[in-house]
Amino acid sequence: MKEDYYDILGISKGASDAEIKKAYRKMALKYHPDKNPDNTEAEEKFKKAAEAYEVLSDTDKKARYDQFGHQAFEGGGGFGGGGMNMDDIFSQFGDIFGGGFGGGGGFSGFGGGSRQRVVKGSNLRIRVKLTLEEVANGVEKKIKVKRKIQAPGTTYKTCGTCNGAGQVTRVTNTILGRMQTSAACPTCGGAGQTIDKKPSDADAQGLKVAEETVMVKIPAGVVDGMQLKVTSKGNDAPGNGIAGDLLVAIQEEDHPTLKREGDNLHYDMYVSLPDAVLGTSKEIDAVTGKVRIKIEAGVQSGKILRLRGKGIPSINGYGKGDLLVHVNVWTPKTLSKKQKDFFESMKEDEHFEPKPESSDKSFFEKVKDMFS
Ligand SMILES: [Zn+2]
Repeated sequence: MKEDYYDILGISKGASDAEIKKAYRKMALKYHPDKNPDNTEAEEKFKKAAEAYEVLSDTDKKARYDQFGHQAFEGGGGFGGGGMNMDDIFSQFGDIFGGGFGGGGGFSGFGGGSRQRVVKGSNLRIRVKLTLEEVANGVEKKIKVKRKIQAPGTTYKTCGTCNGAGQVTRVTNTILGRMQTSAACPTCGGAGQTIDKKPSDADAQGLKVAEETVMVKIPAGVVDGMQLKVTSKGNDAPGNGIAGDLLVAIQEEDHPTLKREGDNLHYDMYVSLPDAVLGTSKEIDAVTGKVRIKIEAGVQSGKILRLRGKGIPSINGYGKGDLLVHVNVWTPKTLSKKQKDFFESMKEDEHFEPKPESSDKSFFEKVKDMFS
């Protein structure tokens, strides 16, 4: 049985982002391998805390974990099995201990990781509202995004501590002799660069906020709550780092007459009594444009007309849903004297006698058909 992530960090389920961060910071400092040399128990606790934080600090992963527990990460990639390696853990620290750039944490890793670390900018999240028509046809949206960019005039120089290598070598005397270990450079956080000059309006990392218009291509068939990723349109990273991503959450607006159910659409059509008796044709607004619908003479209330392929395209690219038109015959509530006399005289008429045929399916059969 895997230990609960909240228990590992010693916090409650309702803990805020700040509380999660604080709890992890405390654990990381307490069980850090540098402070607990050759203590496998501490190392294990350190790794567990890092794994818990990796999940609970990420909005999406946290939501999945809150809903499904550890099962949320089993089977599909993730780190279900072996936990995180030390490289992953130390790369988290930029976030926690105030940024790998320009020193801050000053923690060293041990062993492994002989590559230069690429610093990545943070992700940005925005929400985009779409009409049902936009969902059905796909759309390109111009979105104004406030993102951090490298301030013009900022220059970088090779880190003096590691000479641009991004890591430092440490020699320790142990009972087994001299041990050499490499670790991420504490001055530049592994980036190999530090700021040389920056303009006054830039922040400590040489970045500043700028508004930019980003084109987001939204494919047909997206679903409310879905998240699309626009690579490298999040915040820039300093120096040679790569920009974070822009995460676009889809929000679907209600349609005045159409109701979505998966890829199918439902439309309630009201037909007057004479139109139901004599037959008619009506035009309705579908998501793909106007559609003319023929109503046969003698149509029954509750009949469902299925218009194949007039629904929402499948997001996976497999075909399209249907448009289901529900016929409702409108019975007048008030009548003139003449009309009343007419219906009175029809009371005993055989044509007005209900005679359901096998083709007039019961409601439940219709519902069954709809979902098949
Ligand atoms: Zn350095």
